[in-house]
Amino acid sequence: MAILKIVKYGDPILRQKSQPISEINNDVKQLAEDMLETMYFAHGVGLAAPQIGLSLQICVIDVLPEGKNKPYVFINPKIVSGENKVEQEEGCLSFPKIYEKVKRFDKVQVEYTDLKGNINTVSAEGFFAKACQHEIDHLNGKVFIDYLPDWKRKQVEKEIKRRKKSKTW
Ligand SMILES: [Zn+2]
Repeated sequence: MAILKIVKYGDPILRQKSQPISEINNDVKQLAEDMLETMYFAHGVGLAAPQIGLSLQICVIDVLPEGKNKPYVFINPKIVSGENKVEQEEGCLSFPKIYEKVKRFDKVQVEYTDLKGNINTVSAEGFFAKACQHEIDHLNGKVFIDYLPDWKRKQVEKEIKRRKKSKTW
């Protein structure tokens, strides 16, 4: 078990499309465990491999309140369908203290490979659905501020620039 370092926005890895995982070996199982541990440690509800500096198609999610665990490990996941877009506030472990409203599906179907190598489909709703879309976006080099209107995204980028300058990013 290990707590991994989370990279922040500005690191080019967050803009890369991740590589599919072809074999679920012990390294992948260990990585999933470490990612979950890192996510809980950071009080997050989701974490994708690019956020810990690895360009691999794996992400972990657990949207239950602390103390009640229901972890999901998604390998090579994709959103196969979605319905009913809603706007809600979102944050990201790679964007500390930045929260913005983003419009996403309220209900999605996610197809993914699990740690046993089986292909599963899960129906996600509400907060869980939002987390699935957010984390899968990371595997495709996309981040939540990409959904903001131009002026708003520029404002956020300016704030990040300011924080980088003052070494608080
Ligand atoms: Zn994120």
